[in-house]
Amino acid sequence: MTVKLFHADAYAREFTSVVTGVRRREGKVTAVALAETAFYPAAGGQPADQGHLDALEVTDVLEEDGEIWHFIRGAPSTLREGLIVAGALDWERRFDHMQQHTGQHILSAAFLQAYGAGTLSVHIGATCTLDLDLSILDEEAIARAEDLANSIVTENRVVTAREVEIEETVAMGLRRPPRQVGRIRVVEVAGFDRSACGGTHVRATGEVGAIALLRHERHKGGVRVGFQCGWRALRHYRWARGLITSLATEFTVGEPDLAGAIGRLQGRARELERGLEAARLELLGYEARELLTRAASLGAPSGVQGLSVVAVAFDGRAIEDLRALARALTAQAECVAILATDPGRRVLVARSPAVAVDAAAVLREAVAAPGAPSAAALVEAARLALRRQGASA
Ligand SMILES: [Zn+2]
Repeated sequence: MTVKLFHADAYAREFTSVVTGVRRREGKVTAVALAETAFYPAAGGQPADQGHLDALEVTDVLEEDGEIWHFIRGAPSTLREGLIVAGALDWERRFDHMQQHTGQHILSAAFLQAYGAGTLSVHIGATCTLDLDLSILDEEAIARAEDLANSIVTENRVVTAREVEIEETVAMGLRRPPRQVGRIRVVEVAGFDRSACGGTHVRATGEVGAIALLRHERHKGGVRVGFQCGWRALRHYRWARGLITSLATEFTVGEPDLAGAIGRLQGRARELERGLEAARLELLGYEARELLTRAASLGAPSGVQGLSVVAVAFDGRAIEDLRALARALTAQAECVAILATDPGRRVLVARSPAVAVDAAAVLREAVAAPGAPSAAALVEAARLALRRQGASA
């Protein structure tokens, strides 16, 4: 059994210990167990610590049957049981986890006290989220829970942990009931929250720093809330501050007018888009008229007099553009439009409503024609298919 130094002192960041177990894969050492460790293993929603054992990098930490295994990058095969090693945590990472994790205790208790909303699950990682048993959550409710949590921070309440027998926990009124049996570790935020937890916590709520709630959304019948605490919250604030400042400079408005300036820009963009679309359709109308003027009459393959066939191969036109052109052509005259474009050999066949031509059959024949490697060849194949259809009608 590895002695958990992080339970006796969450602030222990350096220690020495003896290697009690070694794991190898293909002769190479991958992980070691220690007699005691300050490295917290991934558990209870709190990520594992990282750091060093001597000069070796610890990338992950896991607990299995009471032994804590330290996974090591590029360990020498000489690493063996009985060796004394010096451990050093990546303290910035660990303290960040302590801030987020303790902040989560406070937030969970705040939502429970303010709205009777229990915490269903917690994620602490690159992002932190809280899943709450809550059906409705508006901005005002979010702000009230956030205020309550931050008032607990500013009161700098003591955070303690102690082990008790499970029978004792009933009278203690834990927010989170224990999942294990035997001795239970109870973490208490003085006068505010008690819950069973094996994680690492700061010693007083002031060290959590600001607790900031981020986005909230419906999730599995409840509400998922993002949050950030302490240094993380400050870094996020700094990023957001920079973003707002640069946007205000870009729009040459004061920060309070920024939302209005963006709204006006969006309105202008929508207006321009509408104008552009109208101009595009007008242009396609002119193009259709010109193509129809130039089109040679194919005769009347299905008995419709004055049928025009517009058959053109383009280069580099979007198929949506060709569809719009086909609509303009078939609306302006009794015609069949065969339009294709490269690259990609996209082709379409369209007809005016009164024209008795099976456009789908023409298209099928053209696409199935052997040796049609280009848009121009496809157009030719479609034209031949149309002629055959006219001859058989
Ligand atoms: Zn905890």
